[in-house]
Amino acid sequence: MHGPTPLERRSSIRGRARGEGREMLVTFKVFRFDPQRDGAPRFQEYSVEVKPSDKILDCLNRIRWEQDPSLSFRMSCAHGICGSDAMRINGVCAIACQRLVRDYGEGPITIEPLPNFRVLKDLMVDLESFFERYRKIRPFLLAPDPPPETERLQLPEERALFDEAVRCILCACCTAACPVTEENGAFLGPAALLRGYRYLFDSRDQASAERISLLDHPDAVWGCKGHGKCTEVCPKEIDVRKWLGRIKKRVHDAKKGGQRVLPEEGGSK
Ligand code: SF4
Repeated sequence: MHGPTPLERRSSIRGRARGEGREMLVTFKVFRFDPQRDGAPRFQEYSVEVKPSDKILDCLNRIRWEQDPSLSFRMSCAHGICGSDAMRINGVCAIACQRLVRDYGEGPITIEPLPNFRVLKDLMVDLESFFERYRKIRPFLLAPDPPPETERLQLPEERALFDEAVRCILCACCTAACPVTEENGAFLGPAALLRGYRYLFDSRDQASAERISLLDHPDAVWGCKGHGKCTEVCPKEIDVRKWLGRIKKRVHDAKKGGQRVLPEEGGSK
C-alpha cells in the first residue's frame, strides 16, 4: 500500500492549517415535500457534525444514512460529472458534490430542490420538461450526405469553437436559475440553447438553415434577455451567456443577408 504522495501531504498540511480537520456542528434546513402525503412543503432541520472540507452531498448522505432514510435526492457519480445532484443551496443553484461546507461559513445551510420544476419528492424534481426542451433543439449531428469512408474530419480550430460548450453535463442548474424560465415555461432555456450553439457551430453539421430557423424564435434564442444567471451558476464554468450571444449574432447576420457569417468563428460551414 502506497503512502500519501508529496502533493497529498502538502494539501493535507494546508488543510490542517486552515482548520479543515476540525469538526463542527452545522444545521441543515432541508426542503421536505412528498406530494402524495403532504398538504404543503416544509423545512426540516438536521444537525450534522461536519468538517469544512466535506461536500454538501456527503452531508446529505450522512443525514440519510444516520438520521432520516426517508430523505430523497438524486446522486450518481459524486464527482461533478453526471450533474444529477443539482439543487438549490442557500438560494443558489449548484451541484451538491461540488460545493463544500466551508463555502457557507458556519451555516445554517438551506437546501431546496431546483426551482421552476415540479417537485417529485423532497429534493428530486421532474426533469422531463427540461429534456423535452433539449430534444427540440435536435441535439445530434445532422449530416444527410453519405458518410465518408473514414471519420468526419475537423480542424482543431473548428473544434475549438465549441470546446467550452461540450463541457455541459445537463445538470439543469442554468435553466432552473434563469428568470426567463420562471416567466415563460415554453422558453427552451440556456442548456438547450447552448447545445444548439454547439451544433450550429460544428463544421461537420449540414443543417445550419434548419438550426437557424429553429433558434430564431421568441421561445428560443430571442427569449434570452442576457440576465447571465446561467453563467453565474454553471458548475462547469461555461460562459453560457456569451455562447448564446454568438447564436444571436449568427441568426441576425443570416437573416440580414443570407451570407456566410462569422467566418473566423463558423469554421468551414
Ligand atoms: Fe449545467 Fe452549465 Fe450545462 Fe447549464 S450549461 S446544464 S449549468 S453544465
